[in-house]
Amino acid sequence: MASLVIHGGAGTIPRANFTPESYQAARNGLADALRSGWAILSAGGLAVDAVEAAVVALENHPSFNAGHGAVLNAAGYHELDAAIMDGRDRAAGAIASARTIRNPIRAARRVMEASDCVLLSGAGADAFAREQGLDIVEQEYFTTALRREHWTRADEERRGLLKRERSEAEKHGTVGAVACDDKGNLAAATSTGGYTYKRAGRVGDTPVIGAGTYARNGVVAVSCTGLGEYFIRRGTSHDIAARIRYRNESLEEATAAAIAELSADKCGAGLIAVDAKGNIAMPHNTEGMYRGAVSADGKISIGIYADDFSPIDA
Ligand code: ASP
Repeated sequence: MASLVIHGGAGTIPRANFTPESYQAARNGLADALRSGWAILSAGGLAVDAVEAAVVALENHPSFNAGHGAVLNAAGYHELDAAIMDGRDRAAGAIASARTIRNPIRAARRVMEASDCVLLSGAGADAFAREQGLDIVEQEYFTTALRREHWTRADEERRGLLKRERSEAEKHGTVGAVACDDKGNLAAATSTGGYTYKRAGRVGDTPVIGAGTYARNGVVAVSCTGLGEYFIRRGTSHDIAARIRYRNESLEEATAAAIAELSADKCGAGLIAVDAKGNIAMPHNTEGMYRGAVSADGKISIGIYADDFSPIDA
């Protein structure tokens, strides 16, 4: 039975700061992404196509930290990371620190299918995307007024001028999707701008296969969000697969254990996962995580906080 789960990152706005409009905009963005992915799965399509389509929709939506709406690094520009993995044969493709690719996840897919690399970075990634005929944009395409404000707050903090804590939403976020198609194939895709004010050249967990993104048929597909350095050091998404494969843990046990370890690191963390039976998990230890899922009957549910995960009218 097919299933699809998405996330828009654990860097959520504190509940009190949402306006009814911005809350609805985020929910709509999640619902649109689920519909894009589900259109493929419900027509008998492949998990890898569904996760790419869902992530493209999230990259195009300004509420989330990926593509249009990505955060700015310390030097004031965008560097984007993305990865995709096809559980059928563990083919994988990723890009890191790209600056001009409109939809980084599409470039990751091309790396997987049209190159002999797994991870391409910087100017090489941008050049490859151009060669492949993908949409190339100016940096301004990614920038929103809100992300400029977030950069300014981070800069004030560095200079000791900020008199309050920055919220999670001001600091980070990511988008991702995992799917199981009706043949039981698994796939995962993740895309991010990383952390606001990150050091130029810093690469997070998202494009590191086995850290922020992983898929293996018969086992699990995982996409992570939270401070990437912790996920890289723990090899989180591969660790979840190993727990299931070698220790026969359930999806729920394996994903809960991963979050518990990240909690012990004091890392605000979240992830989405689907196993070979189509079971899903969306654990997080943060106040919220933008997330959504489609059940086998096509019903879409969306949530941002612990208590607002609910079905919406399709
Ligand atoms: N994992 C992302 C990174 O470290 C950020 C996030 O998910 O919030 O680049």
